[in-house]
Amino acid sequence: MHEQILQDLWKVAQGKWESGVLPSAESLARARASLPTTLPATGASLESIQRHILDDIVPGFNGGSISPNYYGFITGGVTPAALFADNVVSAYDQNVQVHLPSHSIVTEVEFNALGLLADLFRLDRSTWQNGTFTTGATASNVLGLACGREWILRKAAERKGVQVSSVGESGLFEVLHELGLSGVQVLSTLPHSSLVKAAGVLGIGRANVRSICRAHNMLHFDLELLEKELARTDKVTIVAVSCGEVNTGRFATTKEDMTRIRQLCDKYGAWLHADGAFGIFGRILDDDPEFATVKTGSDGIELADSITGDGHKLLNVPYDCGFFFCRHPDLAAQVFQNANAAYLTPGPSEGPPIPSPLNVGIENSRRFRALPVYASLLSYGRDGYREMLQRQIRLARCINEWIYDHPEYTALPEPTSKSDLIDQTFMGVLFRAKDAQLNCKLAKKINDTSRIFVSGTSWDGAPACRIAISNWRVDVERDLELVTGVLAEVSELQD
Ligand SMILES: *Cc1c(COP(=O)(O)O)cnc(C)c1O
Repeated sequence: MHEQILQDLWKVAQGKWESGVLPSAESLARARASLPTTLPATGASLESIQRHILDDIVPGFNGGSISPNYYGFITGGVTPAALFADNVVSAYDQNVQVHLPSHSIVTEVEFNALGLLADLFRLDRSTWQNGTFTTGATASNVLGLACGREWILRKAAERKGVQVSSVGESGLFEVLHELGLSGVQVLSTLPHSSLVKAAGVLGIGRANVRSICRAHNMLHFDLELLEKELARTDKVTIVAVSCGEVNTGRFATTKEDMTRIRQLCDKYGAWLHADGAFGIFGRILDDDPEFATVKTGSDGIELADSITGDGHKLLNVPYDCGFFFCRHPDLAAQVFQNANAAYLTPGPSEGPPIPSPLNVGIENSRRFRALPVYASLLSYGRDGYREMLQRQIRLARCINEWIYDHPEYTALPEPTSKSDLIDQTFMGVLFRAKDAQLNCKLAKKINDTSRIFVSGTSWDGAPACRIAISNWRVDVERDLELVTGVLAEVSELQD
Protein backbone atom coordinates (compact mmCIF):
# COMPACT_ATOMS: atom_id res chain seq x y z
CA MET A 1 0.00 0.00 0.00
CA HIS A 2 2.75 2.49 0.93
CA GLU A 3 4.62 1.60 -2.25
CA GLN A 4 1.46 2.17 -4.25
CA ILE A 5 0.88 5.59 -2.68
CA LEU A 6 4.44 6.68 -3.41
CA GLN A 7 4.07 5.49 -6.98
CA ASP A 8 0.83 7.43 -7.33
CA LEU A 9 2.55 10.54 -6.00
CA TRP A 10 5.35 10.14 -8.53
CA LYS A 11 2.83 9.66 -11.30
CA VAL A 12 1.26 12.95 -10.32
CA ALA A 13 4.65 14.65 -10.24
CA GLN A 14 5.48 13.33 -13.68
CA GLY A 15 2.30 14.92 -14.96
CA LYS A 16 0.04 11.96 -15.58
CA TRP A 17 -2.92 14.08 -14.58
CA GLU A 18 -5.71 12.80 -16.72
CA SER A 19 -8.91 14.23 -15.33
CA GLY A 20 -8.80 17.81 -16.69
CA VAL A 21 -7.84 20.93 -14.79
CA LEU A 22 -11.06 20.98 -12.74
CA PRO A 23 -12.74 18.05 -10.97
CA SER A 24 -16.05 16.90 -12.47
CA ALA A 25 -19.29 17.84 -10.72
CA GLU A 26 -19.75 14.15 -9.89
CA SER A 27 -16.31 13.89 -8.28
CA LEU A 28 -17.01 16.98 -6.18
CA ALA A 29 -20.42 15.68 -5.13
CA ARG A 30 -18.98 12.31 -4.26
CA ALA A 31 -16.16 13.84 -2.22
CA ARG A 32 -18.61 16.11 -0.42
CA ALA A 33 -20.96 13.25 0.38
CA SER A 34 -18.06 11.21 1.78
CA LEU A 35 -17.21 13.76 4.49
CA PRO A 36 -18.22 12.59 7.99
CA THR A 37 -20.81 14.64 9.83
CA THR A 38 -19.37 13.91 13.25
CA LEU A 39 -16.17 12.55 14.79
CA PRO A 40 -16.34 8.76 15.03
CA ALA A 41 -15.80 7.34 18.51
CA THR A 42 -13.47 4.64 17.27
CA GLY A 43 -10.78 4.92 14.65
CA ALA A 44 -10.65 3.16 11.30
CA SER A 45 -7.76 1.16 9.86
CA LEU A 46 -4.96 2.99 8.10
CA GLU A 47 -5.85 1.12 4.89
CA SER A 48 -9.43 2.35 4.93
CA ILE A 49 -8.32 5.94 5.58
CA GLN A 50 -5.92 5.70 2.66
CA ARG A 51 -8.66 4.34 0.44
CA HIS A 52 -11.04 7.12 1.51
CA ILE A 53 -8.47 9.85 0.80
CA LEU A 54 -7.37 8.43 -2.55
CA ASP A 55 -10.76 7.31 -3.84
CA ASP A 56 -13.10 9.97 -2.44
CA ILE A 57 -11.14 13.12 -1.61
CA VAL A 58 -8.36 13.25 -4.23
CA PRO A 59 -10.77 13.10 -7.23
CA GLY A 60 -12.26 16.34 -5.83
CA PHE A 61 -8.94 18.19 -6.21
CA ASN A 62 -8.17 20.52 -9.09
CA GLY A 63 -5.06 20.34 -11.27
CA GLY A 64 -3.92 23.67 -9.73
CA SER A 65 -0.30 23.00 -9.47
CA ILE A 66 -0.12 19.54 -11.00
CA SER A 67 -1.40 20.38 -14.50
CA PRO A 68 0.81 22.64 -16.66
CA ASN A 69 -2.43 23.96 -18.17
CA TYR A 70 -3.91 25.45 -15.01
CA TYR A 71 -3.18 29.17 -15.49
CA GLY A 72 -5.22 30.62 -12.62
CA PHE A 73 -3.62 32.58 -9.76
CA ILE A 74 0.12 31.81 -9.98
CA THR A 75 0.29 28.25 -8.79
CA GLY A 76 3.68 26.92 -9.88
CA GLY A 77 4.03 23.18 -9.52
CA VAL A 78 6.11 20.61 -7.66
CA THR A 79 9.41 19.42 -9.12
CA PRO A 80 10.30 15.75 -8.48
CA ALA A 81 13.20 16.78 -6.20
CA ALA A 82 10.92 19.07 -4.21
CA LEU A 83 8.26 16.36 -3.89
CA PHE A 84 10.81 13.90 -2.57
CA ALA A 85 12.21 16.40 -0.07
CA ASP A 86 8.74 17.44 1.09
CA ASN A 87 7.89 13.83 1.90
CA VAL A 88 11.14 13.58 3.89
CA VAL A 89 10.14 16.74 5.76
CA SER A 90 6.81 15.20 6.78
CA ALA A 91 8.29 11.82 7.66
CA TYR A 92 11.05 13.25 9.90
CA ASP A 93 8.99 16.20 11.14
CA GLN A 94 11.89 18.38 12.21
CA ASN A 95 10.98 21.56 14.08
CA VAL A 96 13.12 24.44 12.76
CA GLN A 97 12.78 27.10 15.43
CA VAL A 98 15.98 27.32 17.50
CA HIS A 99 19.50 27.14 16.10
CA LEU A 100 21.01 24.20 18.00
CA PRO A 101 24.08 23.25 15.97
CA SER A 102 25.01 20.25 18.09
CA HIS A 103 21.45 18.85 18.01
CA SER A 104 20.44 19.10 14.35
CA ILE A 105 21.68 20.28 10.96
CA VAL A 106 18.31 21.78 9.96
CA THR A 107 19.02 25.47 10.66
CA GLU A 108 22.28 25.19 8.71
CA VAL A 109 20.44 23.65 5.75
CA GLU A 110 17.95 26.54 5.87
CA PHE A 111 20.75 29.08 5.99
CA ASN A 112 22.49 27.32 3.12
CA ALA A 113 19.28 27.26 1.05
CA LEU A 114 18.86 30.99 1.63
CA GLY A 115 22.39 31.48 0.28
CA LEU A 116 21.63 29.34 -2.79
CA LEU A 117 18.52 31.44 -3.43
CA ALA A 118 20.59 34.63 -3.14
CA ASP A 119 22.96 33.14 -5.75
CA LEU A 120 20.05 32.26 -8.04
CA PHE A 121 18.83 35.87 -7.91
CA ARG A 122 22.32 37.40 -8.19
CA LEU A 123 22.05 38.97 -4.74
CA ASP A 124 25.33 39.42 -2.92
CA ARG A 125 25.41 36.89 -0.06
CA SER A 126 27.39 39.17 2.22
CA THR A 127 24.50 41.67 2.13
CA TRP A 128 21.48 39.47 1.58
CA GLN A 129 21.93 36.16 3.39
CA ASN A 130 19.77 37.55 6.16
CA GLY A 131 16.19 36.59 6.09
CA THR A 132 14.09 33.56 6.53
CA PHE A 133 11.65 31.12 5.00
CA THR A 134 7.98 32.01 5.36
CA THR A 135 4.59 30.54 4.53
CA GLY A 136 4.40 32.65 1.36
CA ALA A 137 4.71 36.12 -0.09
CA THR A 138 1.94 37.44 2.16
CA ALA A 139 3.95 36.56 5.27
CA SER A 140 7.10 37.96 3.62
CA ASN A 141 5.26 41.23 2.98
CA VAL A 142 4.28 41.31 6.67
CA LEU A 143 7.97 40.89 7.55
CA GLY A 144 9.02 43.60 5.08
CA LEU A 145 6.54 46.17 6.34
CA ALA A 146 7.25 45.24 9.99
CA CYS A 147 11.00 45.73 9.52
CA GLY A 148 10.32 48.94 7.58
CA ARG A 149 8.05 50.29 10.31
CA GLU A 150 10.74 49.64 12.92
CA TRP A 151 13.48 51.26 10.80
CA ILE A 152 11.72 54.42 9.65
CA LEU A 153 10.63 55.30 13.17
CA ARG A 154 14.19 54.78 14.40
CA LYS A 155 15.35 57.13 11.61
CA ALA A 156 12.66 59.68 12.48
CA ALA A 157 13.81 59.63 16.12
CA GLU A 158 17.44 60.14 15.07
CA ARG A 159 16.45 63.11 12.92
CA LYS A 160 14.58 64.70 15.82
CA GLY A 161 17.36 63.85 18.26
CA VAL A 162 14.88 61.95 20.45
CA GLN A 163 15.59 58.65 22.27
CA VAL A 164 12.81 56.19 21.57
CA SER A 165 12.71 52.47 22.07
CA SER A 166 11.61 50.07 19.37
CA VAL A 167 8.05 49.67 18.11
CA GLY A 168 8.30 45.96 18.91
CA GLU A 169 9.05 46.86 22.52
CA SER A 170 6.97 49.97 23.17
CA GLY A 171 4.15 49.77 20.65
CA LEU A 172 3.41 51.69 17.46
CA PHE A 173 1.02 54.18 18.98
CA GLU A 174 3.42 55.07 21.81
CA VAL A 175 6.38 55.62 19.45
CA LEU A 176 4.34 57.73 16.98
CA HIS A 177 3.03 59.77 19.89
CA GLU A 178 6.51 60.36 21.32
CA LEU A 179 7.68 61.55 17.90
CA GLY A 180 4.65 63.75 17.22
CA LEU A 181 3.77 61.80 14.08
CA SER A 182 0.27 60.93 12.85
CA GLY A 183 1.06 57.61 11.18
CA VAL A 184 2.90 55.41 8.71
CA GLN A 185 2.10 55.39 4.98
CA VAL A 186 2.96 52.81 2.32
CA LEU A 187 3.41 54.15 -1.22
CA SER A 188 3.24 51.79 -4.16
CA THR A 189 1.84 51.25 -7.65
CA LEU A 190 -1.00 48.70 -7.97
CA PRO A 191 0.24 46.72 -4.95
CA HIS A 192 -0.76 43.09 -4.44
CA SER A 193 -3.74 42.75 -2.09
CA SER A 194 -1.53 40.97 0.45
CA LEU A 195 0.58 44.09 0.91
CA VAL A 196 -2.57 45.97 1.87
CA LYS A 197 -3.48 43.13 4.23
CA ALA A 198 -0.01 43.31 5.78
CA ALA A 199 -0.56 47.02 6.48
CA GLY A 200 -3.83 46.15 8.20
CA VAL A 201 -2.21 43.47 10.36
CA LEU A 202 0.63 45.77 11.42
CA GLY A 203 -1.51 48.66 12.61
CA ILE A 204 -0.45 50.82 9.65
CA GLY A 205 -3.95 50.61 8.22
CA ARG A 206 -5.14 49.39 4.84
CA ALA A 207 -6.28 52.94 4.00
CA ASN A 208 -2.70 54.15 4.33
CA VAL A 209 -1.46 52.07 1.39
CA ARG A 210 -1.70 54.28 -1.66
CA SER A 211 -0.86 54.01 -5.34
CA ILE A 212 1.34 56.84 -6.55
CA CYS A 213 0.88 56.20 -10.27
CA ARG A 214 1.52 58.28 -13.35
CA ALA A 215 -1.69 59.74 -14.76
CA HIS A 216 -1.62 57.65 -17.93
CA ASN A 217 0.34 54.68 -16.71
CA MET A 218 -0.88 52.96 -13.56
CA LEU A 219 2.07 50.57 -13.52
CA HIS A 220 4.77 53.18 -12.89
CA PHE A 221 5.54 55.65 -10.10
CA ASP A 222 4.95 59.36 -10.54
CA LEU A 223 8.35 60.24 -9.11
CA GLU A 224 7.49 63.91 -8.53
CA LEU A 225 4.42 63.03 -6.53
CA LEU A 226 6.41 60.36 -4.70
CA GLU A 227 8.95 62.95 -3.56
CA LYS A 228 6.16 65.27 -2.42
CA GLU A 229 4.70 62.48 -0.28
CA LEU A 230 8.09 61.49 1.11
CA ALA A 231 8.69 65.09 2.16
CA ARG A 232 5.63 65.10 4.46
CA THR A 233 6.57 65.80 8.04
CA ASP A 234 3.46 64.31 9.67
CA LYS A 235 4.02 60.75 8.44
CA VAL A 236 6.85 58.30 7.91
CA THR A 237 6.94 56.25 4.71
CA ILE A 238 7.61 52.80 3.33
CA VAL A 239 7.93 52.64 -0.48
CA ALA A 240 6.79 49.25 -1.78
CA VAL A 241 7.80 48.40 -5.34
CA SER A 242 5.58 45.98 -7.29
CA CYS A 243 8.37 43.94 -8.78
CA GLY A 244 5.85 42.19 -10.93
CA GLU A 245 2.25 43.52 -10.95
CA VAL A 246 -0.03 40.58 -10.48
CA ASN A 247 -2.57 41.19 -13.31
CA THR A 248 -0.16 42.12 -16.08
CA GLY A 249 3.05 40.49 -14.81
CA ARG A 250 4.79 43.77 -15.68
CA PHE A 251 7.39 45.58 -13.64
CA ALA A 252 6.99 48.95 -11.90
CA THR A 253 10.58 50.08 -12.22
CA THR A 254 13.83 49.99 -14.17
CA LYS A 255 17.29 50.16 -12.60
CA GLU A 256 17.23 53.92 -13.26
CA ASP A 257 13.93 54.32 -11.40
CA MET A 258 15.20 52.18 -8.53
CA THR A 259 18.36 54.27 -8.26
CA ARG A 260 16.25 57.43 -8.07
CA ILE A 261 13.79 55.92 -5.56
CA ARG A 262 16.72 54.71 -3.41
CA GLN A 263 18.14 58.26 -3.37
CA LEU A 264 14.74 59.65 -2.35
CA CYS A 265 14.33 57.05 0.40
CA ASP A 266 17.80 57.86 1.76
CA LYS A 267 17.06 61.58 1.65
CA TYR A 268 13.78 61.29 3.56
CA GLY A 269 14.52 58.32 5.83
CA ALA A 270 12.08 55.96 4.10
CA TRP A 271 12.27 52.16 3.79
CA LEU A 272 12.33 50.55 0.36
CA HIS A 273 10.58 47.18 0.09
CA ALA A 274 10.30 45.15 -3.13
CA ASP A 275 7.46 42.65 -3.57
CA GLY A 276 9.16 40.27 -5.96
CA ALA A 277 6.89 37.28 -5.28
CA PHE A 278 7.27 36.17 -8.90
CA GLY A 279 9.15 39.13 -10.44
CA ILE A 280 12.42 38.36 -8.66
CA PHE A 281 12.72 35.37 -10.98
CA GLY A 282 13.47 37.76 -13.86
CA ARG A 283 16.94 37.99 -12.31
CA ILE A 284 17.70 34.41 -13.31
CA LEU A 285 17.90 35.47 -16.96
CA ASP A 286 21.15 36.22 -18.76
CA ASP A 287 21.87 39.37 -20.76
CA ASP A 288 19.96 37.98 -23.71
CA PRO A 289 18.28 40.63 -25.93
CA GLU A 290 15.23 38.37 -26.21
CA PHE A 291 14.44 38.93 -22.52
CA ALA A 292 15.88 42.43 -22.05
CA THR A 293 12.68 44.04 -20.69
CA VAL A 294 12.22 41.33 -18.05
CA LYS A 295 15.84 41.62 -17.01
CA THR A 296 15.56 45.42 -16.81
CA GLY A 297 12.32 45.26 -14.80
CA SER A 298 13.84 43.07 -12.11
CA ASP A 299 17.15 44.93 -12.12
CA GLY A 300 17.66 47.33 -9.23
CA ILE A 301 15.77 45.41 -6.56
CA GLU A 302 19.17 44.82 -4.96
CA LEU A 303 18.84 48.50 -3.93
CA ALA A 304 15.85 47.71 -1.71
CA ASP A 305 16.03 47.25 2.07
CA SER A 306 13.85 44.15 2.01
CA ILE A 307 12.63 41.73 -0.66
CA THR A 308 9.67 39.34 -0.80
CA GLY A 309 9.83 36.17 -2.88
CA ASP A 310 7.57 33.16 -3.33
CA GLY A 311 8.71 29.54 -3.34
CA HIS A 312 5.37 27.93 -4.23
CA LYS A 313 5.07 29.96 -7.43
CA LEU A 314 7.92 30.03 -9.98
CA LEU A 315 10.36 28.05 -7.85
CA ASN A 316 7.94 25.11 -8.14
CA VAL A 317 8.17 23.80 -4.59
CA PRO A 318 4.98 22.71 -2.77
CA TYR A 319 2.74 24.91 -0.64
CA ASP A 320 3.42 26.59 1.55
CA CYS A 321 6.73 28.32 0.98
CA GLY A 322 7.95 31.88 0.64
CA PHE A 323 11.17 33.65 1.47
CA PHE A 324 12.26 37.01 2.76
CA PHE A 325 15.56 38.84 2.32
CA CYS A 326 16.63 41.84 4.37
CA ARG A 327 19.83 43.87 4.15
CA HIS A 328 19.74 44.90 7.84
CA PRO A 329 20.78 41.85 9.87
CA ASP A 330 19.71 42.98 13.34
CA LEU A 331 16.35 44.45 12.50
CA ALA A 332 13.93 41.51 12.29
CA ALA A 333 14.89 40.50 15.83
CA GLN A 334 13.69 43.91 17.11
CA VAL A 335 10.21 42.97 15.93
CA PHE A 336 10.03 39.19 16.16
CA GLN A 337 12.14 38.26 19.20
CA ASN A 338 10.62 36.10 21.90
CA ALA A 339 10.80 38.08 25.10
CA ASN A 340 11.99 36.38 28.29
CA ALA A 341 12.58 32.98 26.74
CA ALA A 342 16.12 32.24 27.89
CA TYR A 343 15.67 28.50 27.37
CA LEU A 344 15.34 29.22 23.67
CA THR A 345 18.77 30.83 23.37
CA PRO A 346 21.06 28.86 21.07
CA GLY A 347 24.01 27.05 22.59
CA PRO A 348 27.66 27.74 21.74
CA SER A 349 27.83 28.03 17.99
CA GLU A 350 29.62 25.70 15.64
CA GLY A 351 29.70 26.86 12.05
CA PRO A 352 28.18 30.12 10.86
CA PRO A 353 26.38 32.43 13.30
CA ILE A 354 22.75 31.75 12.40
CA PRO A 355 19.90 33.55 14.14
CA SER A 356 17.26 31.26 15.58
CA PRO A 357 14.31 31.37 13.15
CA LEU A 358 11.85 31.96 16.00
CA ASN A 359 13.47 35.35 16.65
CA VAL A 360 13.37 36.63 13.07
CA GLY A 361 9.98 35.48 11.77
CA ILE A 362 6.33 35.04 12.65
CA GLU A 363 6.21 31.43 13.85
CA ASN A 364 7.97 29.68 16.70
CA SER A 365 7.51 25.98 15.92
CA ARG A 366 7.72 25.64 12.18
CA ARG A 367 8.04 23.23 9.29
CA PHE A 368 11.36 22.46 7.58
CA ARG A 369 10.11 24.12 4.41
CA ALA A 370 13.60 25.01 3.24
CA LEU A 371 14.42 21.39 2.37
CA PRO A 372 12.30 21.19 -0.84
CA VAL A 373 13.85 24.52 -1.90
CA TYR A 374 17.33 23.19 -1.23
CA ALA A 375 16.60 19.95 -3.12
CA SER A 376 15.03 21.63 -6.14
CA LEU A 377 17.79 24.25 -6.44
CA LEU A 378 20.46 21.54 -6.41
CA SER A 379 18.48 19.42 -8.81
CA TYR A 380 18.10 22.15 -11.48
CA GLY A 381 20.93 24.58 -10.81
CA ARG A 382 20.91 28.06 -12.30
CA ASP A 383 20.81 26.73 -15.87
CA GLY A 384 17.82 24.48 -15.21
CA TYR A 385 15.78 27.26 -13.65
CA ARG A 386 16.75 29.69 -16.42
CA GLU A 387 15.68 27.23 -19.09
CA MET A 388 12.37 26.62 -17.28
CA LEU A 389 11.64 30.37 -17.07
CA GLN A 390 12.53 30.90 -20.73
CA ARG A 391 9.93 28.30 -21.74
CA GLN A 392 7.34 30.05 -19.57
CA ILE A 393 8.08 33.47 -21.07
CA ARG A 394 8.12 32.14 -24.64
CA LEU A 395 4.72 30.50 -24.20
CA ALA A 396 3.24 33.72 -22.73
CA ARG A 397 4.65 35.71 -25.66
CA CYS A 398 3.34 33.30 -28.28
CA ILE A 399 -0.13 33.40 -26.72
CA ASN A 400 -0.05 37.20 -26.63
CA GLU A 401 1.02 37.34 -30.26
CA TRP A 402 -1.89 35.08 -31.22
CA ILE A 403 -4.32 37.24 -29.19
CA TYR A 404 -3.00 40.43 -30.82
CA ASP A 405 -3.70 38.98 -34.26
CA HIS A 406 -7.13 37.58 -33.37
CA PRO A 407 -10.13 39.68 -34.46
CA GLU A 408 -12.23 38.81 -31.37
CA TYR A 409 -9.68 39.47 -28.59
CA THR A 410 -7.76 42.46 -27.22
CA ALA A 411 -4.41 42.14 -25.45
CA LEU A 412 -4.04 44.23 -22.27
CA PRO A 413 -2.83 46.75 -21.29
CA GLU A 414 -3.69 47.98 -24.81
CA PRO A 415 -0.39 47.73 -26.67
CA THR A 416 1.08 50.41 -28.91
CA SER A 417 2.43 47.75 -31.28
CA LYS A 418 2.78 44.01 -31.54
CA SER A 419 6.52 44.11 -30.98
CA ASP A 420 6.08 46.24 -27.87
CA LEU A 421 3.51 43.78 -26.52
CA ILE A 422 5.84 40.83 -27.08
CA ASP A 423 8.80 42.68 -25.53
CA GLN A 424 6.84 43.62 -22.40
CA THR A 425 5.40 40.17 -21.78
CA PHE A 426 6.84 38.24 -18.83
CA MET A 427 4.98 35.05 -17.78
CA GLY A 428 1.49 36.56 -17.73
CA VAL A 429 -1.11 37.27 -20.40
CA LEU A 430 -3.98 39.70 -19.77
CA PHE A 431 -6.75 39.98 -22.34
CA ARG A 432 -10.45 40.40 -22.98
CA ALA A 433 -13.01 39.65 -25.67
CA LYS A 434 -14.00 42.62 -27.85
CA ASP A 435 -17.66 41.61 -27.62
CA ALA A 436 -18.89 42.90 -24.24
CA GLN A 437 -21.43 40.12 -23.81
CA LEU A 438 -18.92 37.39 -24.45
CA ASN A 439 -16.38 39.20 -22.28
CA CYS A 440 -18.64 39.09 -19.22
CA LYS A 441 -18.70 35.29 -19.38
CA LEU A 442 -15.30 34.71 -20.92
CA ALA A 443 -13.46 33.23 -17.92
CA LYS A 444 -16.38 30.91 -17.15
CA LYS A 445 -16.63 29.71 -20.75
CA ILE A 446 -12.92 29.01 -20.91
CA ASN A 447 -12.90 27.20 -17.56
CA ASP A 448 -16.01 25.19 -18.42
CA THR A 449 -13.89 23.37 -21.02
CA SER A 450 -11.73 22.03 -18.14
CA ARG A 451 -8.87 21.87 -20.66
CA ILE A 452 -7.27 25.05 -19.34
CA PHE A 453 -8.07 27.30 -16.38
CA VAL A 454 -7.70 31.09 -16.36
CA SER A 455 -8.36 33.71 -13.66
CA GLY A 456 -11.16 36.16 -14.16
CA THR A 457 -10.08 39.64 -13.10
CA SER A 458 -10.80 43.24 -13.92
CA TRP A 459 -8.68 45.76 -15.77
CA ASP A 460 -9.47 49.42 -16.38
CA GLY A 461 -12.98 48.98 -15.05
CA ALA A 462 -14.04 46.01 -17.21
CA PRO A 463 -13.74 42.22 -16.89
CA ALA A 464 -10.57 40.61 -18.19
CA CYS A 465 -8.90 37.20 -18.17
CA ARG A 466 -5.47 36.39 -16.94
CA ILE A 467 -3.21 33.50 -17.90
CA ALA A 468 -0.26 33.02 -15.52
CA ILE A 469 2.37 30.55 -16.69
CA SER A 470 4.38 29.18 -13.82
CA ASN A 471 4.60 25.38 -14.04
CA TRP A 472 7.91 23.56 -14.49
CA ARG A 473 6.38 21.24 -17.12
CA VAL A 474 5.46 23.98 -19.62
CA ASP A 475 5.96 22.97 -23.25
CA VAL A 476 5.69 25.88 -25.67
CA GLU A 477 4.40 24.05 -28.74
CA ARG A 478 2.04 21.64 -26.98
CA ASP A 479 0.57 24.26 -24.65
CA LEU A 480 0.26 26.99 -27.32
CA GLU A 481 -1.83 24.66 -29.45
CA LEU A 482 -4.07 23.78 -26.52
CA VAL A 483 -4.56 27.36 -25.27
CA THR A 484 -5.21 28.91 -28.68
CA GLY A 485 -7.49 25.99 -29.57
CA VAL A 486 -9.64 26.68 -26.51
CA LEU A 487 -9.64 30.46 -27.08
CA ALA A 488 -10.59 30.05 -30.75
CA GLU A 489 -13.40 27.66 -29.85
CA VAL A 490 -14.77 29.90 -27.10
CA SER A 491 -14.76 32.98 -29.36
CA GLU A 492 -17.04 31.12 -31.78
CA LEU A 493 -19.51 29.86 -29.18
CA GLN A 494 -23.00 31.26 -29.68
CA ASP A 495 -25.63 31.65 -27.03
C1 LIG B 1 1.06 35.81 -4.98
C2 LIG B 1 1.57 37.12 -4.59
C3 LIG B 1 1.55 37.55 -3.26
C4 LIG B 1 0.94 36.72 -2.16
O1 LIG B 1 1.59 35.52 -2.09
P1 LIG B 1 1.08 34.24 -1.28
O2 LIG B 1 2.15 33.30 -1.60
O3 LIG B 1 -0.26 33.90 -1.86
O4 LIG B 1 1.01 34.61 0.16
C5 LIG B 1 2.12 38.77 -2.96
N1 LIG B 1 2.62 39.54 -3.93
C6 LIG B 1 2.61 39.20 -5.23
C7 LIG B 1 3.19 40.13 -6.24
C8 LIG B 1 2.08 37.97 -5.61
O5 LIG B 1 2.07 37.62 -6.90
